[in-house]
Amino acid sequence: MASIMKSACPLNCWDSCGFHVTVEDDRVIKVDGDPSHPITKGKICGRGRMLEVRTNSSERLTTPLKKVNGEFQQISWNQALDEIALKMKQLKEQVGTTSVLHSHDYANNGILKNLDQRFFNCYGGVTELYGSLCWGAGIEAQKWDFGDAYSHEPQDVINSKNIIIWGRNVARTNMHFYENLLEAKKKGAKLIVIDPLFNATAKIADEHITVKPGLDGLLAAGVIKEILRLGLEDLEFINNSSTGFTDVMELLEGITIEKVSEMTEVPMGKITMLAQVFADKPTATFMGLGLQRYQNGGNTIRFIDALVAVSGNVGIAGGGANYANLQVGQSFDIGNLTLNDRRENHRQFSIMKQAEEILATIDPEIKMIIVTCGNPVTQVPDSSVVQQAFSSVETLVVIDQFMTDTARLADYVLPATTVFEEEDIYYSSMYHHYVNYGPKLVSAPGEAKPDLWIWTQLAERLGFGEDFNFSREEWLNMTLKSLSEKGLTLEMLKEQHTLELPVKPIPWLDRQFKTPSGKFEFTSEHGRLELAVPQESKWRNPELAKKYPYSLLTIHPMRSNHSQNYHLLKKEPKLRVEVSEDIAKKMQLQEDDVVRVWNERGDVRGYLTILSKSHPNTINIDEGIWKKFGGPVNNLTSSGESDNGLGSTLYDCLVNIEKVN
Ligand code: SF4
Repeated sequence: MASIMKSACPLNCWDSCGFHVTVEDDRVIKVDGDPSHPITKGKICGRGRMLEVRTNSSERLTTPLKKVNGEFQQISWNQALDEIALKMKQLKEQVGTTSVLHSHDYANNGILKNLDQRFFNCYGGVTELYGSLCWGAGIEAQKWDFGDAYSHEPQDVINSKNIIIWGRNVARTNMHFYENLLEAKKKGAKLIVIDPLFNATAKIADEHITVKPGLDGLLAAGVIKEILRLGLEDLEFINNSSTGFTDVMELLEGITIEKVSEMTEVPMGKITMLAQVFADKPTATFMGLGLQRYQNGGNTIRFIDALVAVSGNVGIAGGGANYANLQVGQSFDIGNLTLNDRRENHRQFSIMKQAEEILATIDPEIKMIIVTCGNPVTQVPDSSVVQQAFSSVETLVVIDQFMTDTARLADYVLPATTVFEEEDIYYSSMYHHYVNYGPKLVSAPGEAKPDLWIWTQLAERLGFGEDFNFSREEWLNMTLKSLSEKGLTLEMLKEQHTLELPVKPIPWLDRQFKTPSGKFEFTSEHGRLELAVPQESKWRNPELAKKYPYSLLTIHPMRSNHSQNYHLLKKEPKLRVEVSEDIAKKMQLQEDDVVRVWNERGDVRGYLTILSKSHPNTINIDEGIWKKFGGPVNNLTSSGESDNGLGSTLYDCLVNIEKVN
């Protein structure tokens, strides 16, 4: 008989939904929303529903595989684990533990996924990745300005008079916030969307402002300049709660509003309108994660933060520079899991440049790569170099549920469980502040195992089994230690499935910032704000801009969580090249034409879609698409780093396009 069980979405997504999962005969039948979840209220997206297909797919990896003479062969777990452990032992003795690279990302969340770090630390410390392909530049920027990256609780938007959605397609990636926007609008809030693309969120806006890709920071600078010209700045906040504002005034003297308008391609009247809207408090700003994926990405977020601060919208109900909500993740004792003090050696590569580093680094060279929760061959920029790097090492181990583009290159592929086949707790540091519990609901197919089981087995073979000798209950209790002291226990979480975390609903209300000065810092110890533009732009590289005149965005796909679902869609996916109307007109391109998009790093081919009302000279190709479906689009993107070193430059990408006959 079928029963409905509560669970939670493990995907790396803003919304961290609660699930109702129908289970029958040890099989997941259906994934729905949990109507009792306080934020997600029974609604989930197609990507969440697809977890049923992911779990039941006949393409699941169900036995360990070893590549022999170019072909995968099924082997036993004992053979796989013995051989991997032996290789790690030999490398530790003969070359050093940092000859092993742990390449990871956040494909599947769950707090116990952090035990991979414990494993590598207890082994002796490996080469790890730092930075983030996704949100890194913006997180670092907010740390410089505020001391941390915190957002207002979701319902606070109802207090806003004006709402600015800056580069976030809420309708696609943050669907429960979309409901809040509709509610706020009904109550009279004005909604402005700033985005190069006329997306589903722009459709419900009172005003959609398109901006030249990568120039969002300059636009914010122009709005600050207008606020100052109109005398609308919040002097009380500037004088009492900030430092470095004179540097901003000095900087803005160096540019005219006309120049800002010309470069951003935003009419002057719109810049003045934005100045008035920001000053008409409370105005809430919600940033997306794409607008900072440029070389100037840190400056972009810092200028938007500065605009929110100058207009007096920091630390007030209905305001905020909402980018991420790290206070959610900070609620847990992750350090109890990872044991960072156990590592004796440590080396770091930038996540963006991991491929170049693998190919170039000596002393010690990378001999072995272990990939968890990621598909770097598809998702890391400049894919052809990534493919070369991951093919170059002596041993590549991939832990995954499916034969991804990265797994295909591996020497060993270890089959992993899905969310419904293991117990864990789930949260997201992007939006709301509720933690969800997901019990084990069904058995894993074949011999698929949880990552934790794999680490435990390898730890035993490598001589530190006692560091993994804990039950799931004990592991979960370790992460909830501080929360338990505040009365929020694992028992309560198991019983209620969703609990509110004790975080600040309106950050910076007391104006005590986590910066060195304790104030909002327009100028940080790391440096001043700069009027910066993208690396691949006519201002910084005119020759390149002549050859490749179009800006390429690679936004999050609608039906897949990054690269995870393309192979499971009912209709075989096609790579779609979405172009602004002016490009189609100039190049005489029609819907569904086959086109080639290229630059010096590589090319992709796909079918044309014409984007209406989007910014001129703009192309979008959704990220994540696998090689067999025409991808990856990261053949085109660069492995550069943002100005603050911690973010990618995935959108800082000029390309050209032609019709293929
Ligand atoms: S992907 Fe996001 S919106 Fe969709 S079900 Fe999961 S958490 Fe919810």
